[in-house]
Amino acid sequence: MSEFNDRELGLDQPISRRDFLNGMAVGIGTLGTAHSLPAQSENGGSPNYPPTRTGMRGSHQGSFEAVHALKDGTFWKHAGKPVDTHESYDLVVVGAGISGLAAAYFFRKHAGESARILLLENHDDFGGHAKRNEFHLGGPMQLVNGGTVSIDSPTPYSAEADGLLKDLGIDPPALAKKYAHNSLFAELGLKPAFFFDKQTFGEDRLAVGVPARARTRSTGAGSTWKEFLARTPLSEQVQRDIARLEEDSIDYMPGLPSAEKKDRLSRMSYRDFLLNVAKVDPGVIPFYQTRTQGEWGVGIDAEPALDCWALRLPGFQGLGLERGSAPHMSFTAAGYADGGSYNFHFPDGNASIARLLVRKLIPEAVPGSTVEDVVTSAVDYGRLDQADSRVRLRLNSPVVRARHRGEVSRAKEVEVVYLQGEKLYNIGARSVVMACWNMVVPFLCPDMPAKQKEAMHYLVKVPLIYTRVGVRNWTSFQNLGMSGASSPGMYHFGVNLSSGPEMGGYQTSRSPEEPIILGMTRTPCQPGLPAREQHKAGRAELLAASFEMFERSIRDQLMRILQGGGFDPARDIEAITVNRWPHGYGYEYNPLFDPDWPPGEAPHEIGRKRFGRITIANSDSAATAYTDAAINQAYRAVNELFV
Ligand SMILES: Cc1cc2nc3c(=O)[nH]c(=O)nc-3n(C[C@H](O)[C@H](O)[C@H](O)COP(=O)(O)OP(=O)(O)OC[C@H]3O[C@@H](n4cnc5c(N)ncnc54)[C@H](O)[C@@H]3O)c2cc1C
Repeated sequence: MSEFNDRELGLDQPISRRDFLNGMAVGIGTLGTAHSLPAQSENGGSPNYPPTRTGMRGSHQGSFEAVHALKDGTFWKHAGKPVDTHESYDLVVVGAGISGLAAAYFFRKHAGESARILLLENHDDFGGHAKRNEFHLGGPMQLVNGGTVSIDSPTPYSAEADGLLKDLGIDPPALAKKYAHNSLFAELGLKPAFFFDKQTFGEDRLAVGVPARARTRSTGAGSTWKEFLARTPLSEQVQRDIARLEEDSIDYMPGLPSAEKKDRLSRMSYRDFLLNVAKVDPGVIPFYQTRTQGEWGVGIDAEPALDCWALRLPGFQGLGLERGSAPHMSFTAAGYADGGSYNFHFPDGNASIARLLVRKLIPEAVPGSTVEDVVTSAVDYGRLDQADSRVRLRLNSPVVRARHRGEVSRAKEVEVVYLQGEKLYNIGARSVVMACWNMVVPFLCPDMPAKQKEAMHYLVKVPLIYTRVGVRNWTSFQNLGMSGASSPGMYHFGVNLSSGPEMGGYQTSRSPEEPIILGMTRTPCQPGLPAREQHKAGRAELLAASFEMFERSIRDQLMRILQGGGFDPARDIEAITVNRWPHGYGYEYNPLFDPDWPPGEAPHEIGRKRFGRITIANSDSAATAYTDAAINQAYRAVNELFV
């Protein structure tokens, strides 16, 4: 419950879009909403241009109801007969995320330029998680990722994924060198902060200057852990324990070899490691509870301690752990200990990769010719689905069925049915790549073997929220001397000033008096449950959350954190975009809860098996949540069509 009234929070102020859609599942009678989204042009963006739309984005209203109705078994009760489009394609791709776009790219490479390809996507924009948020706040256009942030993976990009990037003109090391990150915040002396909220820590207090890195006394932020902790409301014992974890080099598992320590650490949560092995006061836990959520969607109660070692959380520096991942962990951040990929961040995140792929497939839709100019290029959405184009991309078109015409092993064609507005349409496809979320596939292909469907249902995706708040200036951050704050007890577990490289004529906010976008993150979950149950509980929370609830909590949180710097939510907030990803990261197995399956028997391996003329892509098929996995799985799924 907020201490501030609606006027103080600015809930009576106009912002670019305030919808009160609560995102609840609806029946087929209200399915046509994708075409009736209200205009959202007050901030200068075109109402017809999806990246500028604000309000509830990500899985927006109109994108998910059809598949939810399929899941609930109500869809076909109300559905009419599909209209025959008489369209037929060499390939239909379900889902136009990075994996679907990459599948179209690889298929065309294999089958030639004359191949007829259709991509069907349930959202009003392409890219899937690789979503672009574009704000027009009075100054130059401001860009930020609505989902996928950067080219960055625990493992090096494969030859196929790297080859695709190179073909698009993306050379990550060269781009990283040329467009070194904007250091304005550091030049202004802004530091990371920590906000202690009274519900969790007993009082509201902002402590600026969190020492920069665990394991080192050189703080970068100008204070030692001891000095920093003395400015917090934490008890003296908790302060001593945090300082010990962060600064001391203690072997908490003496006498064991590194491999044995790693094995044990992979089977206990970081919470248990802190409480039972490092023996800290329980009051330490809230300080670290959400530190793993951005990476895995669950807190330290459900994350193996070994993952947290790889994430460089404190307490391991005296254990003498050898570099390299443990056997369980080839798909987790522990892989970073083995190397990892190159790293580059476009101003709109990996949405630029999606835009470059669309340019490759449908050049007339994405003007320009370089990896730089795609950043500011205006996509012509009207050209994505033209009758005379060999490759077509159809938005707002959830697929509801893909069924072989005839017996699966002998069928020459698959009938694909999709919904647009209130109507169902069918088309013919010689081949289909399912690049959508794996757990959706059993509802679209009910004829699949039961074992395969069961395996796909196992892969519970991780829910996440990336909220973007357009503000008229960031003088409050400058006044407080901070670039962002962790707030683990609050609705969003952190807030940061966003920035990206200046490339292709794109210009970031250059002074605190200019507008900027704030990034806020939440991964809804329910500590104490097994990881997959936490993700399900988080998804249910997200489905029931209204935009009104989000707006209120965002305004309240920013007020409490920033009011000491002069922030006024009623005056300063210009626009809010809530990127809601109930089906976010692909599920990564967690040794605390998942068994060790024999080779070939893990759910993602069973789930991705070819089914007649239908093959399965998406990062889910790799049981991991990275862009390179989405591309690798597209490559495999396309190759399977040609054997
Ligand atoms: C918030 C967030 C941040 C991330 N950050 C990073 C990062 O920094 N680096 C990184 O490497 N990876 C990151 N990832 C993971 C990465 O985004 C994914 O691994 C990758 O982009 C997934 O691509 P995809 O095509 O497999 O799936 P998606 O992007 O999910 O695309 C699948 C598409 O299929 C559509 N679809 C579903 N059902 C249907 C249907 N019935 N009909 C038609 N279409 C349908 C979906 O709506 C979606 O658009 C992030 C993910 C999230 C959610």
